[in-house]
Amino acid sequence: MVSSLRPKSLSEALEFRTAEKARPFAGGTDLMVRYRGYSGTLPKLEGPILFLDAVQELKEISVGKSEITIGAGATLTQMLACGDLPELIRRAVELIAAPGLRNRATMGGNVCNASPAGDSIPPLYVHEALVVLVSPEGERTLRVDEFLTGPGTTALADNEILKAFRVPLLSSGLTYYRKVGTRRANALSKLSAAGYAALEGGAITDFRFSVGAVAPTVVRLTEAEEMVRGSSPDRIDIDAVLEAAAPRIRPIDDQRSTADYRRQTALNALQEFLNILQK
Ligand SMILES: Cc1cc2nc3c(=O)[nH]c(=O)nc-3n(C[C@H](O)[C@H](O)[C@H](O)COP(=O)(O)OP(=O)(O)OC[C@H]3O[C@@H](n4cnc5c(N)ncnc54)[C@H](O)[C@@H]3O)c2cc1C
Repeated sequence: MVSSLRPKSLSEALEFRTAEKARPFAGGTDLMVRYRGYSGTLPKLEGPILFLDAVQELKEISVGKSEITIGAGATLTQMLACGDLPELIRRAVELIAAPGLRNRATMGGNVCNASPAGDSIPPLYVHEALVVLVSPEGERTLRVDEFLTGPGTTALADNEILKAFRVPLLSSGLTYYRKVGTRRANALSKLSAAGYAALEGGAITDFRFSVGAVAPTVVRLTEAEEMVRGSSPDRIDIDAVLEAAAPRIRPIDDQRSTADYRRQTALNALQEFLNILQK
């Protein structure tokens, strides 16, 4: 018999998490699939389960001058209802699954699942978002790229819960988001990419580009970014930028796509954003 708790407060949730080493369960849209049994039977969840969906403190979204804080337990639908949700995150979340699933699924679950194909992750990398982790000892904050340590692995300790994302707002500029999948709805990505460019006085003052599903974790194409920063759009040597980006792109073949397709599509996405910048 699996023990479980559906607490209403974060402190109660942390107590159970710590005492039982209970597994957090937010929307369950990854967990129910991972532990599914035969058709018509319940999923075989292992170990104590901590249901988080009634903990209000995990669902809060608050907007400040320079950052937005998004509760890890806010559903994707709740996020989309927030008028101040940053554009890049909105575009990614709108393309996750379908409305029924977005009513349950959370960004906390998307990130803690730690799939390199998690669609909310490339925008979080571009925003240089922070994750706030809470345990009975207090809170600690990590960069999202420090939190995600490999495919399916994170820096979450077994007495911690992901409480919230602190997402620095981007100053005005151009953003880019591209999801490549078999179909528009209910399809996991073959690849997704997010980009941002800020321009001032004819020069690109900031340039960021991240890609998911092309390496063990989502990656920022830092060498390519550095080549673009400081130059004017019409002076960008696109071939040289693509060459600088290539070593970061190390995809694998799997059931959704081939490594070759992913490698080429990631570079096409970067090229597409650079072409938009040059228009
Ligand atoms: C039909 C279908 C379509 C899908 N389409 C997409 C898609 O297009 N793009 C995409 O990226 N994903 C997709 N997914 C995957 C999934 O829906 C998302 O990853 C979703 O955001 C997971 O959120 P959740 O709240 O349901 O996570 P859960 O299943 O509840 O949890 C996932 C993992 O996160 C952990 N966790 C959850 N919350 C916390 C917390 N606060 N603190 C610590 N650990 C936590 C859990 O222990 C578990 O390991 C799809 C899934 C299905 C079934």
